Amino acid sequence: KNLKKYFPITGGFLKRVVGQVHAVEDISFTIRRGETLGIVGESGCGKSTTGRTILRLLEKTDGEVYYDGKEVFGLSKSEMVNLRTKMQIVFQDPYSSLNPRKTVAQICGEALVEHGLAKKGKEVNDIVSETIEKCGLAPYHIRRYPHEFSGGQRQRIGIARALTLNPEFIVCDEPVSALDVSIQSQIINLLMDLQQDMGLTYLFISHDLSVVKHISDRIGVMYLGNMVELAGKHDLYESPLHPYTQALLSAIPVPDPKKKRERIVLKGDIPSPANPPKGCTFHTRCPYAMDVCKEVTPEFIESAPDHFVACHLVNKR
Ligand code: SF4
Ligand code: MG
Repeated sequence: KNLKKYFPITGGFLKRVVGQVHAVEDISFTIRRGETLGIVGESGCGKSTTGRTILRLLEKTDGEVYYDGKEVFGLSKSEMVNLRTKMQIVFQDPYSSLNPRKTVAQICGEALVEHGLAKKGKEVNDIVSETIEKCGLAPYHIRRYPHEFSGGQRQRIGIARALTLNPEFIVCDEPVSALDVSIQSQIINLLMDLQQDMGLTYLFISHDLSVVKHISDRIGVMYLGNMVELAGKHDLYESPLHPYTQALLSAIPVPDPKKKRERIVLKGDIPSPANPPKGCTFHTRCPYAMDVCKEVTPEFIESAPDHFVACHLVNKR
């Protein structure tokens, strides 16, 4: 709710704070139990920062995050330790996110030991074996090291690591972006199967519109730290309301030529998040920008049933 995350910019040899990167600028949305909420947007739009701040891996600048009605940043240390077991993250890069000096058993079992949920040795190894098997790796792999696996297998290990604590909610931060296209769908299907079996809820972050479409129930579109549109995937892809979403979707090829949209090419570059434009942050590139857009920040409101948009053009109707 109204979540903000700014990062200080330091400069000069005294390393004074000279500005702030507005990574996440006042966003509000809900993730429903059992769904996959996709978040799309170009790199640097604040997707990953949103995912990490929700998990309290980063401190917030302002706003609130509620998990089952409890404000996450208001939890005590012990309550937070407890919540940590319920929320996990899968990272983008399966090469750098796994410690090369540790075996799969150590990598995936670490959290079990830390949380006192299993004893080192047989107890941990049994749980890890079972978990990597769920993720499509034979149990004997627990004794091997990350470098002995392919990229797709390493991401299976990254997913297994997130699953050993039997979580409810997982932030998947571009989990297939570093993988070959042929491997991507295997990992996406694995995530979908695991969701079914374990009743998981996902926040699925990606810059790839087709990947997000495949896995998500609802999708939020981010631009320069703002969420500009949020809707069920059918509504979003069939009738995008925000000019930025329309431009993004016009760039993906559609198999049916009758449904072909005209390609909308945006002029200019994304402005710097250290100095975001006033009013609607998209106004410098929007083909429909009006005077009001340069001054007044559009509210994020439900313009159609379960379809949220932040745009003066859409919401004045
Ligand atoms: Fe374009 Fe204005 Fe809508 Fe922003 S508020 S997307 S500038 S029409
Ligand atoms: Mg990212």
